[in-house]
Amino acid sequence: MDLFEYQARDIFEKHGVPVLGGIVATTPDEARAGAEQLGGGTVVVKAQVKTGGRGKAGGVKLAHSPEEAAEKASEILGMDIKGHTVHRVMIAAGAKIAEEYYFSLLLDRANRSYLAMASVEGGMEIEQLAVERPEALAKVAVDPTVGIDAAKAAEIVEAAGFADDVREAVAQTIQKLWTVYQAEDATLVEVNPLVKTEDGQVVALDGKVSLDENAGFRHAEHAELEDKAAADPLEAKAKENDLNYVKLDGEVGIIGNGAGLVMSTLDVVAYAGEAHGGVKPANFLDIGGGASAAVMAAGLDVILNDPQVKSVFVNVFGGITACDEVANGIVQALGILGDEANKPLVVRLDGNNVEEGRRILAEANHPLVTLADTMDGGADAAAAAANAA
Ligand code: GDP
Ligand code: MN
Repeated sequence: MDLFEYQARDIFEKHGVPVLGGIVATTPDEARAGAEQLGGGTVVVKAQVKTGGRGKAGGVKLAHSPEEAAEKASEILGMDIKGHTVHRVMIAAGAKIAEEYYFSLLLDRANRSYLAMASVEGGMEIEQLAVERPEALAKVAVDPTVGIDAAKAAEIVEAAGFADDVREAVAQTIQKLWTVYQAEDATLVEVNPLVKTEDGQVVALDGKVSLDENAGFRHAEHAELEDKAAADPLEAKAKENDLNYVKLDGEVGIIGNGAGLVMSTLDVVAYAGEAHGGVKPANFLDIGGGASAAVMAAGLDVILNDPQVKSVFVNVFGGITACDEVANGIVQALGILGDEANKPLVVRLDGNNVEEGRRILAEANHPLVTLADTMDGGADAAAAAANAA
């Protein structure tokens, strides 16, 4: 789960990372009040959207008075930044910046390790810097069992070439950022810019944090960080039912059991779609091992409520949950959904008890259901049905 900057700021503050005051506002009046609360001086009005490059897009503006903060907020609120509508701004205490640095800590899956990156040339163009002058971006592996202790912090600071006057403060700050990473179960902590102010302080002026949802059970407090308003309504519905669902762009709804089977079903459907007007998979949906009627109904309900879906391909390999149970699940699910089930369904069953499963579906003889013998055949039939609809 990616956090908004203001949420990252709060978490930084909780763990002792130096930050400046920040107040969230959803209206120009709140922005004015926030600027007053911060002392009435210069503030920065910052769009709160979960994408980078806000500065370049005009989503970060200085304001020299509470009145001006309200004006800037009215310009930024409602703005579209790379497809994200700005619903909130953060009124941040203004910093007098002397230098801008970069620091990040992330999960390095390929090396089964963490990776710290740091540069004395931070600011807005870090991606460009990484491509054009990779030597200016220090990369230091961090052993997950050790983390960033004083020695590792010194190594990072040395590798990035921080000047003597800020070394100690930067080293302290990145150890605090390690605390954030570890204590909050983050997969990314990025600060760009980490700044030196004109009076020599090191401060995190921007923050990007991603939390590992698999560790959610350890962090009841993380639940309230979720941006429920922005979640795709179908994805939210799927989540309520504990379904592993990802909305995609195409027309063929997909239900399968097991992430690997579902992934290959997406490939096969995309391939079959090339012969049928270029239709594509509409979603990823893994109903997992126990394809009970209730789970099947919840999955079908989510998919059939996607207006882009024209047909559905159910591709299940019976294992512990045998094909006859899955078939009964499908029949009962169609019963539960009644008139809401209104799109052609191609079902391919294989594996444990497949004969009985097919017999149950054939006997039910539901007008929307077609049986397929093979995965390729099912993908082709579902793509053809989507194209014909
Ligand atoms: P991003 O573009 O989405 O990464 O947004 P940032 O929060 O990084 O802000 C972009 C730029 O705005 C920073 O690199 C700074 O140059 C500038 N900026 C942000 N906060 C302040 C501040 O308090 N004072 C000043 N003078 N500039 C700021
Ligand atoms: Mn930034």
